[in-house]
Amino acid sequence: MRPITKGEWPIGPDGHPIDFFEHGEARPELIQRIGDYCSYCEMHLPYLHVEHMQPKGVVPGVALNWNNFLLACPSCNSIKGHAYLNINDYYWPDTHNTHLLFDFLPGGIVVMKSGYSADIDTTRVENTFKLTGLGRYAHNTTIDDRRWLKRKEAEDKAVLVALHYYVSCGMPESYIPSIVSMATGSGFLSVWMKVFESYPEVQDALIEGFAGTYPNCLTGNINRL
Ligand SMILES: [Zn+2]
Repeated sequence: MRPITKGEWPIGPDGHPIDFFEHGEARPELIQRIGDYCSYCEMHLPYLHVEHMQPKGVVPGVALNWNNFLLACPSCNSIKGHAYLNINDYYWPDTHNTHLLFDFLPGGIVVMKSGYSADIDTTRVENTFKLTGLGRYAHNTTIDDRRWLKRKEAEDKAVLVALHYYVSCGMPESYIPSIVSMATGSGFLSVWMKVFESYPEVQDALIEGFAGTYPNCLTGNINRL
């Protein structure tokens, strides 16, 4: 799950925080700051829902609250559901370094890591994994849930690009902007980071290239300071 920096509540032309009358009004600002990627599965989509971390309607005041907004694809939005949840039972991409939570295996498969540092609450990771349904693939997903297929497509592309980068002679670093362009067009930063894990120069460019990615995701702890 790509950790993001959403930033402070947007300021309107009058110099005051914007009063949202409808949550969809926050979409352009969110897309400008964190890119048009689902905040949970990282899918690149032209149309994303403005997602409420705490579902709107269950707690007063969260429906139009910038601090409660993320972007989500229809699958993540649907799977996450609309029931009350305790925010502190989960890790969130805009407040935690969620780069540390999951591993991305060949075949577009997402799993919990085999071990976590002492400052990461494993139960909280499990809750986050279940809430978003990121472990669904092939046999255990539905025809409408295309997240696994799209993740696998991104992985296939990243592997081909990495092979080309690996075998290219001369000045391979000149190829990095093209890699970033292809990656941002296909989404799933975490997949590209995994495929290019032996190439820190590419990883750094990817982190910079995906709008709003938490810049210290490779070195920071789960709790950002
Ligand atoms: Zn999603």
